[in-house]
Amino acid sequence: MVTSAPEKVRTVLGDINPADLGVCDAHDHLFLRSPQLPGQELDSVDAAAEELAAFRAAGGVSVVQWTPHGMGRHAERLPELSGATGVRIVAATGLHQAAHYTPESLERLRAQGLAELFVRELTEGIGHSGVRAGLIKVAGGFHGLDGHARWTMTAAAEAHRATGAPIAVHLELGTAALDVLDLLCGELAVAPHRVILGHLNRFPDLALHHQAAEAGALLAFDGPSRAHHATDWRMPDAVRSLADAGFGDRLLLGGDTTTAGARSVCGGPGMPHLLRGVRPRLERAVGAELTELMLTVNAGRAFGVAWR
Ligand SMILES: [Zn+2]
Repeated sequence: MVTSAPEKVRTVLGDINPADLGVCDAHDHLFLRSPQLPGQELDSVDAAAEELAAFRAAGGVSVVQWTPHGMGRHAERLPELSGATGVRIVAATGLHQAAHYTPESLERLRAQGLAELFVRELTEGIGHSGVRAGLIKVAGGFHGLDGHARWTMTAAAEAHRATGAPIAVHLELGTAALDVLDLLCGELAVAPHRVILGHLNRFPDLALHHQAAEAGALLAFDGPSRAHHATDWRMPDAVRSLADAGFGDRLLLGGDTTTAGARSVCGGPGMPHLLRGVRPRLERAVGAELTELMLTVNAGRAFGVAWR
């Protein structure tokens, strides 16, 4: 009889039991840099520490950073930040859309092998930091997948097969969810419960949300943000609709702070808003019990894997 390894969440300070993840911001960023967000970089270690402390003070226990390779993750700083603030942190490997990189750096990655890079960052560490990633982040396009998305998702599936790591997907404005599932779970045979779809709230087509949940994927609702203010208010309705259909066990919640001005310590909603704003609103929509499950048990299940 084959017994598989116990499921663990891979944090920057080591592997932990999923139950120890506690109240989790399942999709956020401490550090982020992209040519697409000039002048808005999340780059300050001090601001990151203050934001984590504010999240901790609001009752938060853990944060999953979805910043992928080459976007200023500052992996080497994450262990000290986690130690100093008492907030558990999970880091990511993976690759975002091509627009976030220079053509030269993408060429280098093609030459060195993307799946190999992902596996190395998941099992040995990011750069020379010794900090191991706990998920693979990739991205789709607007209502479709281009060659870059197919390349990165194929590498993600390969790295998933080698390590067991979950795959978290940025859906561009919440679209192309079914294309992503067709590719990852159809063609590339990744188990649907190992795929986390982000940003569906930016495209509040409830029928589509139901299809993605029915397929077995996890749905990560995130925000709010100024850019997505027009759809953010519909999130509680989407969550309630999915919960009513019996999909409450595959819903995740995150803050997705992507700019310096969005941090709570800079006057934005930031990470504490998940617990001070989103949580009470969802408690009204689906009750306290399910809201708590989404913030704790669901996150543990999403990021807890039997690492290979
Ligand atoms: Zn994000």
